[in-house]
Amino acid sequence: MTVCCPDCGFTTDNLPPTHKCPECGEFSHDWLIYDWEEFVAIKRRHIKYNVAILGALLINVLLALALQSSNAFQWFLTLLAIPAIISWLRCRRQLRARSAYKGHEAGVVFPWFSGLGGL
Ligand SMILES: [Zn+2]
Repeated sequence: MTVCCPDCGFTTDNLPPTHKCPECGEFSHDWLIYDWEEFVAIKRRHIKYNVAILGALLINVLLALALQSSNAFQWFLTLLAIPAIISWLRCRRQLRARSAYKGHEAGVVFPWFSGLGGL
């Protein structure tokens, strides 16, 4: 696994046991994973989740409209479209910006709705 120093961008296949960067001499507990292919696979998966969520929400809204629902929870669910759209757009932007890729954090594997990772 290739890892990347968050301070200077130095990449190596073996994380230094002391977490001290041999290039800039900084200690860091937040070495980034430097694997574009893995990053792309994760982001593509998240895009699929978001599309699935948006599809389900759309059906929910159409049903609510068709049934003239007064169920507040059903309408409340629609608010989930906001983080789903933000995440979806962000994933797409990141996939287009390979040159801006500087490694990713291990937590990026968790989609927004898991509550463990951010958008
Ligand atoms: Zn460094």
